[in-house]
Amino acid sequence: MSLTTYAGRCHCGAVQFETDADLDAGTLRCNCSICAKTRFWLVFVPAERFRLLTGDETLADYRFGAQRIRHRFCTVCGVKPFGMAADGSGVAVNVACLEGLAPERLASLPVNHVDGAHDRWNAAPAVTSHL
Ligand SMILES: [Zn+2]
Repeated sequence: MSLTTYAGRCHCGAVQFETDADLDAGTLRCNCSICAKTRFWLVFVPAERFRLLTGDETLADYRFGAQRIRHRFCTVCGVKPFGMAADGSGVAVNVACLEGLAPERLASLPVNHVDGAHDRWNAAPAVTSHL
């Protein structure tokens, strides 16, 4: 594992964070009800590798279903820079909110698809090209 520290932010900049992540170890696209609607592209990091620098007061906290994930979004610009496990164990960082990644680098990142719509978190859905 090769960790790199990335700066990240929402669109308006009210929310800023840093994370230490290994993007080459794999990013995720999911077809669950909220990932599909937000087109969320994520990388999981343990909580100790995520630092919220500004904007905690600007973030709304949306939960649904089993309430296990705090889907956090900026109440100014509407962007969802990350979601957090409600138990504090980990953070799903929005890869699209990381700063300084050229299109070529983003396009080269490995993407694993998961079938969250059917609670199959270790399997890809039958169709992935729309995610
Ligand atoms: Zn914002």
